[in-house]
Amino acid sequence: MWHTSCMPTLALGDFELSIFSDGTYPLDGGAFFGVIPKVMWSRKVEADTKNLVTAGLNSLLIRTGKQTVLVETGMGNKLSDRMVKFYGQPAKLLDNLSAAGIAPENIDIVINTHLHFDHCGWNTVRDKNGKIVPTFPRAKYYAPEGEWQYARRPSERDAISFISDNYDPLVASGQMMLLKGGEQIVPGIFVETFPGHTASMMGVIVRDPSGAKAQKSSTMSGGTAEAVPYPSFVPTAACYISDLIPTTAHIDLTWGMSFDLYPLQTIESKKQYYARSIPGKWLTVFTHDPKTPWAFVEKDEAGKMVALAV
Ligand SMILES: [Zn+2]
Repeated sequence: MWHTSCMPTLALGDFELSIFSDGTYPLDGGAFFGVIPKVMWSRKVEADTKNLVTAGLNSLLIRTGKQTVLVETGMGNKLSDRMVKFYGQPAKLLDNLSAAGIAPENIDIVINTHLHFDHCGWNTVRDKNGKIVPTFPRAKYYAPEGEWQYARRPSERDAISFISDNYDPLVASGQMMLLKGGEQIVPGIFVETFPGHTASMMGVIVRDPSGAKAQKSSTMSGGTAEAVPYPSFVPTAACYISDLIPTTAHIDLTWGMSFDLYPLQTIESKKQYYARSIPGKWLTVFTHDPKTPWAFVEKDEAGKMVALAV
């Protein structure tokens, strides 16, 4: 699988973007595709006999030349036994970072788009004595303030998705900063609120401040390089759009997840995203796609959304 054998990387001007996976996990296909009938989604994604599909846990690493920034920290290794029964606990992110020579101490900034357990799990770990400590000791962590407020008193519907050990100790110690939306975290890295999946979920937009165009640098580490189609255009920006568009199978406006708390807002936010990402030739990064961590999303001549591989 690509998530262990190769590390997709490309350059965006002076920035280097890489995908690191925390592994894959099983998810109910019906829940993943909301109101879309199985006869339709099963043409795009394969389900097993229990109706489970495979979801990825993709983090985006940005090396700006000055800072190393990690967007999202996967599922981590602190799930309860009951959660492990449902989701397994692949817990591969630190190993995959380490294989690329990146130690937890090397991460300067961690950004969480929202605080569901499969997006911020490696924020913290338990030390030898069972105490919750930051996984990335030097990092400044960022998360949406509205999300954190909500996570303290979640609805019955999604209370299971929050594990307070992933963020509360960091907020209490001052290591996690809470964001309103619209901030620039470091030059060229911005957060913006895209409501729908949750009220305060953020996308992370990366724009090279030097304005230089991206050049594809490498896609594989080890193994034989595959011929991959490269679009005739190059990205001027990239966006980690998180659970607004979790996989390439969710690019259609109406293909939302059942997990979305505000499905009509998901559609509206997707429209607003595409109105900027398509003319701007943004590279879209998919948080839960097990095979295609990033792609260009375009509208074809028939008006259908298509994901073009990088
Ligand atoms: Zn989520």
